[in-house]
Order: sequence, then C-alpha cells, then structure tokens
Amino acid sequence: MEEIKSKTNLFEDIKIFKDLERDIIETKKCCACGACVAFCNSQGFDVIKMEGYTPKFISEENEDNCKECGICYYICPNTTPLMDQLNEMYNAESELGHIITVIAAKTIDENIREFGQDGGIVSTFLTYLFEKDEIDGAIVSEYDENLNPLPKIIFDKKDLIKSSGTRYSISPNILSLKDLNIISQDILEKKNIENIDDLRLAFVGTPCQCRAVRKMQYLNITPAYNIKFVIGLFCFENFDYDKIYKIIQDETNVKPSDILKTNIKKNFFITSKKEEVFEINIKTLDPAVRSHCQECDEFTAKFSDISVGASGAPEGHSIIVVRTAKGQRIINSLTTEGIIEKYRIPIEQITEWKTKKINWFNKMTSRKTK
Ligand SMILES: Cc1cc2nc3c(=O)[nH]c(=O)nc-3n(C[C@H](O)[C@H](O)[C@H](O)COP(=O)(O)OP(=O)(O)OC[C@H]3O[C@@H](n4cnc5c(N)ncnc54)[C@H](O)[C@@H]3O)c2cc1C
Ligand code: SF4
Ligand code: SF4
Ligand code: SF4
Repeated sequence: MEEIKSKTNLFEDIKIFKDLERDIIETKKCCACGACVAFCNSQGFDVIKMEGYTPKFISEENEDNCKECGICYYICPNTTPLMDQLNEMYNAESELGHIITVIAAKTIDENIREFGQDGGIVSTFLTYLFEKDEIDGAIVSEYDENLNPLPKIIFDKKDLIKSSGTRYSISPNILSLKDLNIISQDILEKKNIENIDDLRLAFVGTPCQCRAVRKMQYLNITPAYNIKFVIGLFCFENFDYDKIYKIIQDETNVKPSDILKTNIKKNFFITSKKEEVFEINIKTLDPAVRSHCQECDEFTAKFSDISVGASGAPEGHSIIVVRTAKGQRIINSLTTEGIIEKYRIPIEQITEWKTKKINWFNKMTSRKTK
C-alpha cells in the first residue's frame, strides 16, 4: 500500500466503491471489464461481486467489509485518475497511441486459420508464447453452446482453439483474475511454480480492458503483475448479449446455438452451422450497443503490446499494430520463423501503405468519438 500511495498520491481525496457506483456505474459508463471485482475479490475482501454486467455490493452487510482502499476506483478504465501517468508511460498522448510499426499478416496454422476470426494472429501469438515458455497461462474468452462469452485463464496451448474467433458481446475478461489464488495445486506443480506471484500470463481484451490492466500494472497490484503480455483487440462497439441475439433471431430466425461465426464487415454477418450466410444492417443492432461504448474514444487498444484487428486488412489477414519492444520481439520471431505470413505490399503501394492504414485508424477513431 505504501508503494501505491507514493506513486499516486491517491489517498489525499480517496474515492471508494460508492464513488465508482455514483460516477461510473449509475451513469452507464461501466464497460463491465471486471477489474474492480477482480482486484477486491483477489484480496479476499468479500465486498463486491459482478451481477450480470454490473459490479455491486454483495449485500448491504458486505458494505461494511469495504476497506476503503480506493483501488477499485483508480483502476477502473473509465475514471480519470492515472490516465496522465499511463499516457506518459506508454507514450500514448495521441488517439492512436505509440506505434512502432503496422503490418498485415496471417497464420500458417491450418487449425487456427479455420477457427480464428481474421488472420488468426491472436491465437498464434499465444501459441508461440506457450511453446517458447514465455507464459504459463492466458486470459481469454471462451464461450458456451449459446455463444455466451466465458472469461477464462487457460494453461495449455491446446485450449486456445476454444477461444479463437470473436463473440460480439461483453466478456469481462479481467474478472477471471479474481480466482488466481485458487488455481489448483496440480496446475502449479505441472508448471513448476511455487509461488503464485511467479505465474506468467498473457491477457487478451478490448481496449477498455487493456486500459484497466495497465492501470493495475501501474499500481503494481496483485493480480496484474502476473500479466506479462497485453494483446489488444480493435473495437468499434460491443453489445449486450440478450439484446443482440434477440435482434439476430428476429431478423434471421437463427438461434445463438445454431451460429457458427459472426463477423462485422460494414454490416453484421452471421454464418450458421448449416453454412448459410445472413447479413444484418449494422444500424439494426444499434439498440443492442452498450451505452458505455457510445462514449468510448479508443479503437486500436493503445495500451497493449500489440493490437490486432481486421479493419483495413487485406482479405484473410489481420492488421497488427506493434507498440512495445516486447511485442516487436515476438512478432519478429513469428515472421522470421515463418509462423505467420506477412502480407506482401504491392510495390506501387509500399511508400504510402503504412500512412494509409494510420489515416484509416484515425478516421475510425474519430467516427467513434462522434
Ligand atoms: C467486441 C469486439 C468488437 C470488435 N470490433 C472490431 C472492429 O470494429 N474492427 C476490427 O478490425 N476488429 C474488431 N474486433 C477484433 C476482431 O474481431 C478480432 O478479434 C481481431 O481481428 C483478432 O482476430 P484474430 O483472427 O487474430 O483472433 P483469434 O486468433 O481468432 O483470437 C480471438 C481472440 O479474441 C478473444 N475474444 C473473443 N471474443 C471476445 C470478447 N467478446 N471480448 C474479449 N475478447 C474476446 C478470444 O479470447 C481470442 O483470444 C473486435 C473484437 C471484439 C471482441
Ligand atoms: S475494499 Fe477497496 S477495492 Fe474493495 S470495494 Fe472497498 S474500496 Fe473498492
Ligand atoms: S472497473 Fe470495470 S467493471 Fe468496475 S466499474 Fe469500472 S468499468 Fe465497470
Ligand atoms: S467500444 Fe470501447 S468501451 Fe465498448 S467494449 Fe470496445 S473498447 Fe470497451
């Protein structure tokens, strides 16, 4: 706590969970990332829980358990404290953040190619980290038979296929960190880990989630220091699960359990398990967009090691924005070892390709902020 205090001077005017409720949750700015609950629960404080998409006191009696530490308020990605520090630390004052390079690429792994959303870069990056023993686990979003997202920590690269692809509804990925202290002894022994603090994780999430993880890392609080790699996903908007699948079913008669894949390419596309493709005008889904997304000004996940998306990518490829030396090292290895195939930019486009992509990201970001 002393270290945190000296880093932030937080405790002069300390804000606590009640302030978070008033400033963020009740004003519909909460993006359901799960960070507040993950931190509080991982300390065993027994104060707050996630109910659907909403962090809440577990009960009136549990309010008294609140230590008034204020951490939940400061790590929330939608509060202002720590943002200046993060922008400075990650050289991210501009809307797109720090960019080392931008490339387009696709995986050569056939299995990932089949199940991945775009170029399968996220799953390939994680596979490589497991294979090279750079991580012990990865925080991803799996899903049930009705495409309901399930945040999860996985410990084996074989489980990555279960998370590949995109589900366009909220997955509070950070929430899975709340159970870090109850990871089974079997797993720790298998990974040869004596102390839970030595567990090395990669995190995959939306820009708002990456921002919360970076705030947690800035404060060096458990459980964020377990996270060694942050992979951000481009994100224009996200949806309420019940609302989006109700609209989809009304429009197409396809139940979530019959959907193979969903994709946004200007409009919303659904591929059913019978391989039928349905197109829904993206505007039809507006009532299902989460209200916090309407205020969000991040598109490319600027607080990540690499950000991955499809906007502006050649067909079948992902766009990768490399942001840190760590991200660059892994992307270099993946390309030089031939694990991902870099898109060959046509000779006549070479000089302007990167600038065009950056202009495109700027355009998408300002469309968002409008
Ligand atoms: C809500 C949402 C909105 C998006 N909007 C855009 C957009 O507007 N433009 C764009 O270019 N890209 C967008 N993306 C990113 C895009 O859909 C792909 O995730 C990205 O291109 C990576 O593709 P891939 O083939 O490399 O990933 P894969 O190898 O298929 O891996 C996908 C990863 O995404 C994670 N994931 C899946 N669903 C969720 C979820 N709901 N929340 C958090 N993590 C999840 C999985 O854990 C997995 O690790 C969005 C993603 C999400 C989750
Ligand atoms: S104990 Fe701390 S983290 Fe938990 S709710 Fe109270 S102020 Fe927030
Ligand atoms: S930390 Fe995340 S879940 Fe908690 S209030 Fe903020 S946005 Fe919502
Ligand atoms: S649009 Fe912004 S707030 Fe909404 S899920 Fe994406 S990153 Fe989070």
